[in-house]
Amino acid sequence: MSRTMSELPSFAVPLRVEIGEVRGQGPVAKRIEALGVSLRPWLPWVHAAMLCAFLALILGPVLLPASDLARNAGALANWLIWGLWFPLVFLSVLVAGRAWCGILCPMGAASQWMNRFGPKRPIPGWLRWEGTPIASFVLVTVLGQTVGVRDYPGALLEVFGGTLVAALAIGFLYGRGRQKRAWCRHACPIGLLLGVFSRLGIVDLVPKRQRAGGDAYQEKGLCPTMIDINRKTESRHCIMCLRCVHPGRRGGLALRLRAPGAEVAAIARHHPAGSELWFLLLGTGVALGAFLWLVLPEYQALRQAFGVWAIDHGWYWIGQPGPAWLMVVHPEAREVFVWLDFLLIVGWMLGVMLVFAGALAGLNLAAVWVGGHLGARGGARERFLTLGYQFAPVAMVSLLMGLGGELFALLPAQEAVPLKAGLLVLALVWGLFLGRRILAGQGLSGWRAALVLLPGAAGAAAVAGAWWPALGGV
Ligand code: SF4
Ligand code: SF4
Repeated sequence: MSRTMSELPSFAVPLRVEIGEVRGQGPVAKRIEALGVSLRPWLPWVHAAMLCAFLALILGPVLLPASDLARNAGALANWLIWGLWFPLVFLSVLVAGRAWCGILCPMGAASQWMNRFGPKRPIPGWLRWEGTPIASFVLVTVLGQTVGVRDYPGALLEVFGGTLVAALAIGFLYGRGRQKRAWCRHACPIGLLLGVFSRLGIVDLVPKRQRAGGDAYQEKGLCPTMIDINRKTESRHCIMCLRCVHPGRRGGLALRLRAPGAEVAAIARHHPAGSELWFLLLGTGVALGAFLWLVLPEYQALRQAFGVWAIDHGWYWIGQPGPAWLMVVHPEAREVFVWLDFLLIVGWMLGVMLVFAGALAGLNLAAVWVGGHLGARGGARERFLTLGYQFAPVAMVSLLMGLGGELFALLPAQEAVPLKAGLLVLALVWGLFLGRRILAGQGLSGWRAALVLLPGAAGAAAVAGAWWPALGGV
């Protein structure tokens, strides 16, 4: 785990008010906690059922002989995954944290199950590197576009089946102690996404007896995602498996409800991480890249110009189709990518990602510089890191629109467009609100805070503006 900000003030110690409770838990939280714990014995059955459904979804359309049934199964799988699963699971973090991961996800459960039988090797440094899930996310997102994961059952099987195999292999090999999920903590692209935005959610598990010192990584402890539970101050790695929740006992964690965005607003006390900030910036960019190449005429113009240039230089191979595991090769559907398409899609997505991430980082840096001149507390690096979390809402809406756009396709255009516009406006306002609270923690308020918020607000507005084509603009 990164200890980048371990020097920051530790999370306020909750006062224990009664055995097995934490301060501010409340009756609703207690009931949810009790319900969750009572359902825990059923989890293996839930996981088994989910695994069967998942395998049927990704294998069925490919294994069925070509027929209307196979086509309908493919369309159903596509709709269930992109229209329902992705957007709903993504949004669920706001109300349930990473409950998907701990309760329902078949991949994480299978990875943990494999850990029982493996050699339980220590988790290697390359896997523990905080950039690993970001690389995994970008790789899967770009590959998904080039192989047509939303359109072809074979591509769906490749991406999700490949991810499952990786989860099983990593789960089998790595993680000591009681059934670990090295995959979920260190490599799953979806886990990264859910973890970052679970910080905005209203559910948290907090230690009944908080130990000082900030978050720590504990490979041999009870937690499947290596959280040292008594030092936990951040929600991103907690998959809500409830293994550490024991109502009525003095130790462990207890469920608590909080205001939306509360953890981000006080991010300096909740172990902010540089990798998370980079994910917010890069994720926003790659989501835009994945959307814009499909709709912008500029992409087609670039393709034409690059194709002509390549032929002029004798790069004739660029007009040949590549392997089907790397790009769309479906002559039966009259869609075949050649190397030109592959290179341009990858280059476009990565280029847009870097441009947006660079611009947002630059604006954040400008805000930090202004803040420093206005007397903000703390070092520039710390302030850059914490203030960057103001982009969390706009990043979340960008990823929802870019990767979960099918959800909006369920609505008629006259309803989908105002809904998307409303979400973008909400994200801008929420980002400003969070930024103001973060700056208050740095000792800035009033006009000083307003001035420091300007660059970030401009960046978030530029991201919102880049989604204009999704609202029906050109
Ligand atoms: S981290 Fe990934 S594999 Fe693990 S439970 Fe969550 S979504 Fe599933
Ligand atoms: S902190 Fe507790 S609930 Fe969260 S993942 Fe670890 S054991 Fe499960």
